[in-house]
Amino acid sequence: MKSTALNDFTSLPALDRPNAALAPSALPPVPIPGLYIHIPFCFHKCHYCDFYSLPGQTNERMHRFVDLLLAEADLWANSPTGPLVRPQTIFIGGGTPTLLPLASMLRLITGLRQRFDLSNLNEFTIEANPATVTPEYCAALCQHAVTRLSFGAQSFHAAELALLERHHNPSDVAASIQTARDAGFKRLNVDLIYAIPGQDLPSFAYSLDSVIALQPEHISAYNLTYEPDTPLAIKKRQGAITPVDEDTELQMLHHARRRLAFAGYHAYEISNHARPAEECRHNLLYWDGGSYIGLGPSAASHLDGLRFRNQPHLGDWEHSIQSQTLPAIDLEHLCPLRRAGELAMLQLRLATGINFSQFTSQTHFDPRHLWPTLLTHLHQLCLIELDNHGFRLTPQGINVADAIAAEFLDPEPGTPTTSLTPTPHADTPTLRHPDTPES
Ligand code: SF4
Repeated sequence: MKSTALNDFTSLPALDRPNAALAPSALPPVPIPGLYIHIPFCFHKCHYCDFYSLPGQTNERMHRFVDLLLAEADLWANSPTGPLVRPQTIFIGGGTPTLLPLASMLRLITGLRQRFDLSNLNEFTIEANPATVTPEYCAALCQHAVTRLSFGAQSFHAAELALLERHHNPSDVAASIQTARDAGFKRLNVDLIYAIPGQDLPSFAYSLDSVIALQPEHISAYNLTYEPDTPLAIKKRQGAITPVDEDTELQMLHHARRRLAFAGYHAYEISNHARPAEECRHNLLYWDGGSYIGLGPSAASHLDGLRFRNQPHLGDWEHSIQSQTLPAIDLEHLCPLRRAGELAMLQLRLATGINFSQFTSQTHFDPRHLWPTLLTHLHQLCLIELDNHGFRLTPQGINVADAIAAEFLDPEPGTPTTSLTPTPHADTPTLRHPDTPES
């Protein structure tokens, strides 16, 4: 494939990372019900973001990027896995996918249809930033079988958006939702972030109420995380901003769950809330340990225990595709025990939790035999509800979900590796590793 200097991503400085050079012929022939596509372009880099995305791209570069995405799709389509890639869900994320010029976006969608069997498709989501969609853009997506849009609102306070370096105004969200509705979209998600520095419970409650008033079918509310080396993490390290304290953050989490439940959105996952039957099916596939492929730089793939992600660099990614190899790094064949641990970790995030018989049929391990001591321990501490069918996190367990999940990845299952210590608040125990100093 010939490229001009303007569009040649390989001219970007390479990362110090070996190319795994995964030949498409080496892919296992397993059914693939999920397809993710990463569009790594943004108008501006938000200060908390560590997704792979680049600001300031030209239309020519984005046009070329779609050529490369379709070339990557060809590698999959012509591999032993190709005939088994029959997506039930497609998710185009980023980045800001709606920055792609409409003609490029439609060329991408048409190209996917030409390469993969989409006859089973029952959900097609595209992420959009408020103020990046027009009536024409939305109408064209609707006409091309896109069924769901996901808007990153994050906050309804201009000062909080400014702190995050988001480049939209609170009023843009309602306008974008209206544009999507007018175009015919029946399934919309809005993302919120809580625990933004300076935010208190009333200001978060205002943002939450503002989202509910827009009546999307799905609402995600994630706590702000300080990813290493993002501008926000650096400001935190320098003391230029003060993170929201843990108690307030937990109050926000539980306020969101109560308020959204009252408004008719059930928390089917720790951070995700949906009207009945409006859960994000693509994300459910991830949480249920399903197989999916990812196209585009930094996109992850999982094929029945084989896992890797794409080079998180446009130039390296392009170079691999031009060499007819998949741009894979961090390739892992998960052993059965590790798969079971990871599945437990993912399914624990769901309100339905872990069902013993389903888990056993997926992994050939019964959690009651694999983690007897751990389950008893978590149950005694009221961190999980446990019955004959399975187990799931309690509200106290949700407070320490990440620490509990880590227990299931212990290479020697059966024994808790951490001490479980109730906090001064009897209803919010924390998991404390033995080597963690007490404060
Ligand atoms: S718009 Fe999204 S992907 Fe782009 S920089 Fe902001 S948070 Fe990151």
